[in-house]
Amino acid sequence: MADTDIYKTLNQPRPWSNLNAFQSDPLLGDLTRSLGKPLREEFDAIGRYVTSPDAQELAQMANTSLPQLKTHGPAGERLDVVSFHPAWHALMRRSMASGLHSLLWEPPRDADSKSKAHKLRAVRVFLTAQLECGHLEPLSSTSASLAVLAAAPQLRDEWAPKILSRKYDSTNRAQNQKASATVGLAIAEKQAGSDMRALATKAHRVSEGVYRLSGHKWFVSAPMSDAFIMLADVDGKPGCFLVPRLLDEGRGNALRYQRLKDKLGLRSNAAAEVEFSDAFGFLLGPPDGGLRTILDMLTLMRLDSAVIASGLMRAAVAEATHAARGRKVAGRTLVVQPLMMRVLADLALDVAAAGALSFRLAESFDRARDSAEEAAYARVMTPVTKYWTTKIAPAVVAEAMEAMGGNGFVEDRPIARHYRDAPGLAMHDGGGNLMALDLRRVVEHGGELFEAVFQVIARDLGASGGKIVELLRAAMALCKSDESAARIFVEQLALAAGAAELYRLGAGRIADAFLETRLAAGWRSTYGMLDTRFDPSYIVELLFPEVD
Ligand SMILES: Cc1cc2nc3c(=O)[nH]c(=O)nc-3n(C[C@H](O)[C@H](O)[C@H](O)COP(=O)(O)OP(=O)(O)OC[C@H]3O[C@@H](n4cnc5c(N)ncnc54)[C@H](O)[C@@H]3O)c2cc1C
Repeated sequence: MADTDIYKTLNQPRPWSNLNAFQSDPLLGDLTRSLGKPLREEFDAIGRYVTSPDAQELAQMANTSLPQLKTHGPAGERLDVVSFHPAWHALMRRSMASGLHSLLWEPPRDADSKSKAHKLRAVRVFLTAQLECGHLEPLSSTSASLAVLAAAPQLRDEWAPKILSRKYDSTNRAQNQKASATVGLAIAEKQAGSDMRALATKAHRVSEGVYRLSGHKWFVSAPMSDAFIMLADVDGKPGCFLVPRLLDEGRGNALRYQRLKDKLGLRSNAAAEVEFSDAFGFLLGPPDGGLRTILDMLTLMRLDSAVIASGLMRAAVAEATHAARGRKVAGRTLVVQPLMMRVLADLALDVAAAGALSFRLAESFDRARDSAEEAAYARVMTPVTKYWTTKIAPAVVAEAMEAMGGNGFVEDRPIARHYRDAPGLAMHDGGGNLMALDLRRVVEHGGELFEAVFQVIARDLGASGGKIVELLRAAMALCKSDESAARIFVEQLALAAGAAELYRLGAGRIADAFLETRLAAGWRSTYGMLDTRFDPSYIVELLFPEVD
């Protein structure tokens, strides 16, 4: 080797950038083929943006220059503000301009936007998650907040124009003085997160619809939101409230930020511990019906979590496959080495099924109003899809990292951040056990909804449908008689519905491989277990084609 060779970078993959996350994804190609040109052009632009070096630098900066809390000003006055790096604001500005927080509620601009609002927004969220997940949290809660604001039409009329504005406004002013408003969620408390009936925060009625809230919240993401949807105890029952951060005159609403969480991931977004005494809250829905009222918001956020987790996995495996194409070991690129190819193919199957399932769920939200079958699918498959996609994400990303060798473990590349972000997606808006218990509640309320879902699955699975639905019925019976078996039913439903959707999309060979290795095969708990009947090179090249 000549002296100068040590200064050359040899045998390293080029950076995973400028690869167009939309054009390189065959699932998105299938899902959007029938759409008009303007929509496809918009997706194409997002696909280019999310893998551009500029956008990736913003994502990295927003996650390394972390939000800072200022509780007090120089004269000792309360400030309770969190300052974010300009990169965070740049991400928020761009995503709000493309309507991630507002698209579901805007007047549709064409027939597709009307009939496929959830699905088309999901495409944008899926692509944006491949860039940065932290800033998607406030956009998800802001979008979902309009579902609960519907319970108080006067409040909705006052807040909706600001919430729907696409002009990001991060100034620290009351919403009536701003161009736009974002909304966060404040449920979890120190003594109770999942258990929403054990709230310590109390709400006392002042006048019709107006309450004063005292207590604390333990994990408030996006603490600079203009308002929070909050649960508080009203005479022993949870009520749901809109709690502005600042009051109309610009005065603080008694929300005292104690500290920011030092989170593992999703670090670009702050999460605060908050205490408050006599903060104003405006009632949403009946005073004793908070759990019912907030459910619509949580349901929308759970769909988002599934879509985000699916996008995150897509980004991780795309990056790993790209790296394996650009790295040689023992004279051959990694991607053609049989064992690596098998690992990547096995990962690719889960990524494909997760994406297919998430978009199928979004479609059921679009069609639920006109079809009882789709409404049943949406109800049953929300906890199932949220459970499975967010639960497999950490394992998928970890395996993808390992495929990149030591490079995967270093913060220079996005995949290390994806790894830290992945587990958080499962935890917020209801962890795995809560999703399983939610599904069990549907089982306990009678089987009719499942009959509709089983029919969908059996129809799309084709020949193997009958046998698989029999297995699902057995798992459902077990889930009904034994709470601790609920996860078994959730997972089987996810796998069966994932395969069914892959068949419906026409990805027969991918669906065969997924079905055989996930539902029909013997033991497995790691990746690379694809059996020899399935061609790993076909799977990888189809699902993660090489792009220039
Ligand atoms: C990244 C991130 C962002 C978040 N953002 C917000 C936010 O903006 N607003 C907000 O209010 N909260 C937020 N949270 C908090 C989140 O809502 C809570 O962590 C969650 O509700 C669980 O509550 P907990 O932490 O008190 O856990 P616990 O309620 O103590 O639960 C602990 C574990 O037990 C499981 N469990 C609960 N009940 C049962 C049962 N009956 N049987 C079996 N298992 C059970 C849970 O699934 C969980 O895994 C966020 C959390 C994360 C990680």
